[in-house]
Amino acid sequence: MITIGIESTAHTFGVAILRDDKVLSNVKDSYTTKSGGMIPGRSADHHVDVCDVVLKNSLEKSGVKLSEVDIIAFSQGPGIGHCLRIGAVFARSLSILLKKPLVGVNHCIAHLEIGRLSGATDPILLYASGANTQIIAYDGGKYRIFGETLDIGIGNLLDTVGRALGLGFPAGPTIEKFAKGGKKYVPLPYAVKGMDVSFGGLHTNLKHKIQSGKFSKEDLCYSLQETVFAMLVEVSERAMAHCEKKELVLGGGVACNSRLKEMANIMCSERGAKCFIPQNQFLVDNAAMIGLTGYLMFKAGNKITVEDSAIRPYERTDDVEVNWR
Ligand code: AMP
Ligand code: MG
Repeated sequence: MITIGIESTAHTFGVAILRDDKVLSNVKDSYTTKSGGMIPGRSADHHVDVCDVVLKNSLEKSGVKLSEVDIIAFSQGPGIGHCLRIGAVFARSLSILLKKPLVGVNHCIAHLEIGRLSGATDPILLYASGANTQIIAYDGGKYRIFGETLDIGIGNLLDTVGRALGLGFPAGPTIEKFAKGGKKYVPLPYAVKGMDVSFGGLHTNLKHKIQSGKFSKEDLCYSLQETVFAMLVEVSERAMAHCEKKELVLGGGVACNSRLKEMANIMCSERGAKCFIPQNQFLVDNAAMIGLTGYLMFKAGNKITVEDSAIRPYERTDDVEVNWR
């Protein structure tokens, strides 16, 4: 069975081709800016500009012809309306053109399902991306959110701090580079509430520290990383203990950070658990995870008509009926 996966929830437009659960190609093009952060309308315009080339490249790489596609899976939500709409229109057009079924996929659940490719079977997902910061696990017949950010996503925090430091978008990778040169830990507010985290206070505190000019970029980036990653690893561990799960999967662009990977690995090995870290191409927003989840959903009988394919910008992880496990 050939699945085409389509991702367009935010800054990334991606197309992947899968044969059953094997990823044949995973091509993407992401919107970036030197200043100003991510503007939803511009990001959507970017997706319109690149969608045909991304599809062509993905087909070429996979060696599959468009006429061989059996299932069209797309990110139906949650995400930015402007951006989701481009992927949805693209998916509907393909469905009508090829007369093939559509499957609407929840983007957050897809980040967890792609962990299967690295061998995880029943993990806790630490989903650390631009807009999302959630601790998700399968429990009682659904994917449930055990913990999450009470304000902004971790990636948004890094990108906003990065903007104040004069770094471009996305700032996460640059912050990681500066952090390597940090020598002194500057104390920052640490806000963990049960299995939830909050970054608002830390953001304000850090803004004042940047404006004061008293601290080096390196020390601030290092302290920022140590603080927020410790918060994420703490809530992941609490969720693992609560749910009695022995596996952790990382997901989201922020999980590309080698310090976060290291801290997650240490926590897991200390409690006799396994840490699964997908390749970076499957951590960031990608179409392969949408294709894989769509394939699993389709096998369990899930498909939607074009009429039912409206985007779901605010869909919650636990809104989804799970019948494929
Ligand atoms: P996503 O929304 O999952 O595609 O992730 C995008 C976010 O990941 C952005 O906020 C980036 O700044 C962040 N990011 C990407 N690479 C890294 C990295 N190496 N360290 C920290 N954050 C990163
Ligand atoms: Mg994501």
